[in-house]
Amino acid sequence: MDTIPASILVVDDEIGMREGCRRALVPQGFQVSTAEHGAEGLRQVRQQHFDLILVDAMMPGMSGLELLEHIRAHDPEIICIVITGYATVDLAARATKLGAYDFLPKPFTSDELLAVVQQGLDERRRRLEAREQQERAEEALHLERARQEMAKLDAIESRFMLVIVHELRNPAGVIKNYLQMMRGGYVDADEWDEYLEQLDLRAGQLLDMLDDLLELANLKAMRSDSKLAPVAAANVLEAVIRTMRSAAEAKGLTLEVQIRSKPTMLAQRGHLQSLWTHLIDNAIRYTPSGGVNVLLDEQDGQIVSEVVDTGIGIANDELSRIFQEFYRAEAAKEEVSLGTGLGLPIVDQIVKIYGGRIDVDSTPGQGSTFRIILPARPPSAEA
Ligand code: ADP
Repeated sequence: MDTIPASILVVDDEIGMREGCRRALVPQGFQVSTAEHGAEGLRQVRQQHFDLILVDAMMPGMSGLELLEHIRAHDPEIICIVITGYATVDLAARATKLGAYDFLPKPFTSDELLAVVQQGLDERRRRLEAREQQERAEEALHLERARQEMAKLDAIESRFMLVIVHELRNPAGVIKNYLQMMRGGYVDADEWDEYLEQLDLRAGQLLDMLDDLLELANLKAMRSDSKLAPVAAANVLEAVIRTMRSAAEAKGLTLEVQIRSKPTMLAQRGHLQSLWTHLIDNAIRYTPSGGVNVLLDEQDGQIVSEVVDTGIGIANDELSRIFQEFYRAEAAKEEVSLGTGLGLPIVDQIVKIYGGRIDVDSTPGQGSTFRIILPARPPSAEA
């Protein structure tokens, strides 16, 4: 049971009416406040809580109907009863439209006043209960949606975790087998170097996978308000090319770079570096002969970069899958036996962070073009 007494405000310019209402209502246990004009009534409504308001329709200054409008805007559940000297159809229609609950024509008796107040308070209780019910239903719906979303994320995360474990077990298992064979005396002395080389390669692959997974996890967890600074894109590209040159030369490939303009981009330098490193590294690894050409340009406030190779290319039906974690095309596995399958997912994630786009154009046996378009001022920087 609600033990807090209902609070009622009487707004009327006639003192006799205000005091008459007070005398009738207080003995019934109601808390009664009074105001002698509309502005004072509104001030009280904004400052304290009322369940029901009795308002005179005709008052100098702010009229009862104007006050009604303000009160309903402030709290639509407050019950407003309009006291009228004479009730016209027009007034009744306007007051009802503004949300008046009932009318009390003057003069009225205490019993008539109490009856209409009691009905109003019953209505108030129903309205509050309905609102509470609606809020509870909305909250339950909200919670259910959040729970479903979490369950979906959990399922995706668990699946991804299984894939990771599976992929990491592979090189770790090979390393253990090789070591067991060597320690068990199953490897001839002249095979030791070959085994050590394999161990080195597999340990390297394992570390590359862990590094790539860490980088990918950091990118996915990156906050949208992370600090970005102006980066000279051409400088980053030239630095990446310098680190890649020896790998290209070792395969007898040409590695050329065309810098058509020198754009500045709001970014994290490490992201641009990683993006080009993965793309150029792939281009070199998947190109048996010919070369790699890297282009940088700025067009309409966008950084445009292409990494073009004359390599093995990618089959059409595999193009949509190369950005999936751990996916490696069949032809790629034949060309380069070990890889992480995480380079392109990293590139994809970086492009997403900056609100950019990546297009791939490839012909098996002829080569591939990876085209990246990034806004020079990414949306995240505007925020
Ligand atoms: P990884 O190179 O370690 O396999 P990536 O995520 O970098 O992993 O690439 C995924 C796959 O996309 C590669 O295995 C290969 O099939 C394909 N790929 C990426 N870049 C090229 C390229 N320049 N030429 C041909 N295939 C490519």
